[in-house]
Amino acid sequence: MPQHKALRLYNTLTRQKEDFVPIDAGHVRLYVCGPTVYDFAHIGNARPIIVFDVLYRLLRHIYGDAHVTYVRNITDVDDKINARAAERGITIRELTEETATIFHKDVAALGCLKPAVEPRATEHIAEMIDIVSRLIGAGNAYEAEGHVLFSVPSMPDYGRLSRRPLDEMIAGARVDVAAYKRDDMDFVLWKPSTPEEPGWDSPWGRGRPGWHIECSAMSWKHLGETFDIHGGGIDLVFPHHENEIAQSRCAFGHSIMASVWMHNGFLQVEGEKMSKSLGNFITIRDALADWPGEVIRFNMLKTHYRQPIDWTVASLRESKRELDRMYPIAKQYAASPAIIPPDFEMAISDDLNMPEAITVLRRLYGEAQDGVALAGARLASCGHLLGLFEKSLPEWIGWRPASAGIDELHVQRLVNARIAARKAKNFAESDRMRDELAGLGIQLKDGKDADGELVTVWEVKR
Ligand code: AMP
Ligand code: ZN
Repeated sequence: MPQHKALRLYNTLTRQKEDFVPIDAGHVRLYVCGPTVYDFAHIGNARPIIVFDVLYRLLRHIYGDAHVTYVRNITDVDDKINARAAERGITIRELTEETATIFHKDVAALGCLKPAVEPRATEHIAEMIDIVSRLIGAGNAYEAEGHVLFSVPSMPDYGRLSRRPLDEMIAGARVDVAAYKRDDMDFVLWKPSTPEEPGWDSPWGRGRPGWHIECSAMSWKHLGETFDIHGGGIDLVFPHHENEIAQSRCAFGHSIMASVWMHNGFLQVEGEKMSKSLGNFITIRDALADWPGEVIRFNMLKTHYRQPIDWTVASLRESKRELDRMYPIAKQYAASPAIIPPDFEMAISDDLNMPEAITVLRRLYGEAQDGVALAGARLASCGHLLGLFEKSLPEWIGWRPASAGIDELHVQRLVNARIAARKAKNFAESDRMRDELAGLGIQLKDGKDADGELVTVWEVKR
């Protein structure tokens, strides 16, 4: 293994920066909680995707591409999914396929590498049942009225990650009171489904998993009983990650689930919490219509990942100006990992200190402008490590914002109605809808998924 600047990562579990020591340097393993696919992902959801993409790139740089496994799941069973599918009159499968397709396009446009594995919860029900059975066998879980609950008092050091005072955890858990719970803090591993709800046969009757058990099952299947790094947004520390730890540790009998727990800070918009009711809700789609993906990425990386980030048009404008200046210089050189300067490597290896790494980029840009060729080549190389300067120069210069005012919801409804018409072999109607969408500047691409189901992706014609 080549020697590199020691990678240091802030571990939420210990509340300090630590030297990163993989369990097996020949196989570094990273798990990040992925999206629940029922709606467009928003710009806040893009933050963990971009932050952990940079970590993934850095791990590959240090340990070699073949020695890092990145798993990011797709949650495709969830009560929000059931509700949204019913509301839109489509099947759950149609909704999750459509949303996952959009998500993939969005994150690719943000310059994110594909994870090595992208497991879907519905394909890991057997592993979930296995873990729940182990937990019952070990006395860490019990069945009650068709539910299976994790018994929090059965785990003496429950709460180590979030370090929440017990009374606060109890108060939080009381939001979800149920007569069948032995303790207020106990949480659901498995719950019964009505005939209309999605469900799978299990030793406890037909039902579906709770949210937390999904990640314990998928990380186990693809990374093993213990692994190196587990990531997500700061809101997932409690209860989601705390409960993942409880499940995995008690099921497999280890003192850890993952060695390092990393959490990104929250994103707010123009100084306010993003919410639909405030009208400042920005989907990744919206953002990509107004800005190149790399501008969004660069703008995201300018703030340290653990700090809150204020998403503003002013900073996006500045990010675009900066990349516009750097691009023509960077594109004159081929990127090479061998010439990444030590100060850049040091900054990025210090718990992903991107603000400092970007300061190095700016210095290299300045030197390259003064005619130092090595600085230009280094600019290209450091940028490449961060997923920047990946477009050709004509592509970068030729980028234009999509026509404003596309009503995505309206478009998606038309697209769905058209799929329904095609399924009903009403081709006159489906052609009419294609024309209507074309009139809105929307281009359609029809295809089939692995099960032969019709799927249609759409994009704004530029
Ligand atoms: P969710 O779909 O709410 O489960 O979120 C998916 C991922 O996005 C999780 O890792 C969340 O922690 C993260 N996330 C959600 N909202 C924000 C936000 N406003 N800022 C940063 N990360 C967020
Ligand atoms: Zn998770």
